[in-house]
Amino acid sequence: MDFTKSKELHEEALEHIVGGVNSPSRAYKGVGGGTPIYMEHAKGAHFWDVDDNSYIDYLAAYGPIITGHAHPHIAEAITHAATNGVLYGTPTRLENKFAKMLKSAIPSLEKVRFVNSGTEAVMTTVRVARAYTNRNKVIKFSGCYHGHFDSVLVEAGSGPATLGTPDSAGIPKAVAEDIITVPFNDLDAFKEAIDHWGDQIAAVLVEPIVGNFGIVEPHADFLQAVNDMTHDAGALVIYDEVITAFRFTYGSAQQVYGIEPDMTAMGKIIGGGLPIGAYGGRQDIMEQVAPLGPAYQAGTMAGNPASMAAGIACLEILQEVGVYEKLDQLGARLETGILQKASEVNIPISVNRLCGALTVYFGDGVITNYAQAEASDGEAFAQFFKLMLDQGINLAPSKFEAWFITTEHTEEDIDKTIEAVGHAFRVMADK
Ligand code: PMP
Repeated sequence: MDFTKSKELHEEALEHIVGGVNSPSRAYKGVGGGTPIYMEHAKGAHFWDVDDNSYIDYLAAYGPIITGHAHPHIAEAITHAATNGVLYGTPTRLENKFAKMLKSAIPSLEKVRFVNSGTEAVMTTVRVARAYTNRNKVIKFSGCYHGHFDSVLVEAGSGPATLGTPDSAGIPKAVAEDIITVPFNDLDAFKEAIDHWGDQIAAVLVEPIVGNFGIVEPHADFLQAVNDMTHDAGALVIYDEVITAFRFTYGSAQQVYGIEPDMTAMGKIIGGGLPIGAYGGRQDIMEQVAPLGPAYQAGTMAGNPASMAAGIACLEILQEVGVYEKLDQLGARLETGILQKASEVNIPISVNRLCGALTVYFGDGVITNYAQAEASDGEAFAQFFKLMLDQGINLAPSKFEAWFITTEHTEEDIDKTIEAVGHAFRVMADK
């Protein structure tokens, strides 16, 4: 494949934009560096870059694009919003409509608030929890990523882990000291943290199904035990569902397991591809938020008509019968194909999959926590990533990320992908 124009654009970008990219994950450091691909346009499950190479896309913009690129229903909603005025600084009826949709999909949301990103959503839940409990400490799980605000850039997965900076510089020591990190799926370690810090803990921040060191499900009873122990300590449970909301079912991961948190943060899918975040939860907790309470959170762009319209349109598509069954069937087909191709040439891999999201880890053993994901073979992944890209398959450039199937992928796309995987594995096995 020829990437001449992408290379030129990246050189230009390096002169003007720090690192050439507006989000570090796009710099391809997780696959040993290289030139990011500059996309020109996209439709459904497919991408075309500036050099006119085409790809089947599994990045899905790191998750939001579950209904495929440029879905006509979403495009129409955005166009309509654009021609009506994109921002008023006043409430609109779209906000009410969307809030009602979220609440009816996720019953634990007694009240919601819209913000502009997943980071903002999680950041505010932490602030509100601290305001509500009058405590400061937060427990998080190692390798989980909750955005780029100070408190959570401690043992963070996803981009920070990929770049080797899970503990960001520039975070005041006092802030980091209020964050306690324990391994995911390790109830003994969690109990130890609760026993030690219990009466100082404001909240436990949980990705109920991890998406940031690959897709990792909680062990049976893990989430229930976390809920019970957290509540016994007088602290709140916050689910970070920025990746998981509307990913595996119409609703959230909390419904997959039938466990309710006190607060939930969302983003990605609920914006239909436009910037968005939302948080919500129990009414008495949400009443801490201004203008009702003393915890301040605001936003010029919050609830803007374009994001509301795109989000509503996206959820309307996801409400259609059979959407999640289709994602699951395509996911199962892809998983089976990948495992089959690996076994043909004896490449040791494991696949974690739920519905239309999966992660391929190189190496032996099952991945249930961050340490295991970290130990998976990054060099093998980097080689695999490049071999896939060369065959027109666009994956996230990091061993810690997921592949996302969209409603627009077809069995043909999946089968082509499996063939490409087979070729990549054969090349890797020959080396
Ligand atoms: N929480 C989780 C679980 C995420 O995966 C992300 C982004 N990958 C965020 C929060 C931050 O969201 P945003 O990038 O929209 O700020």
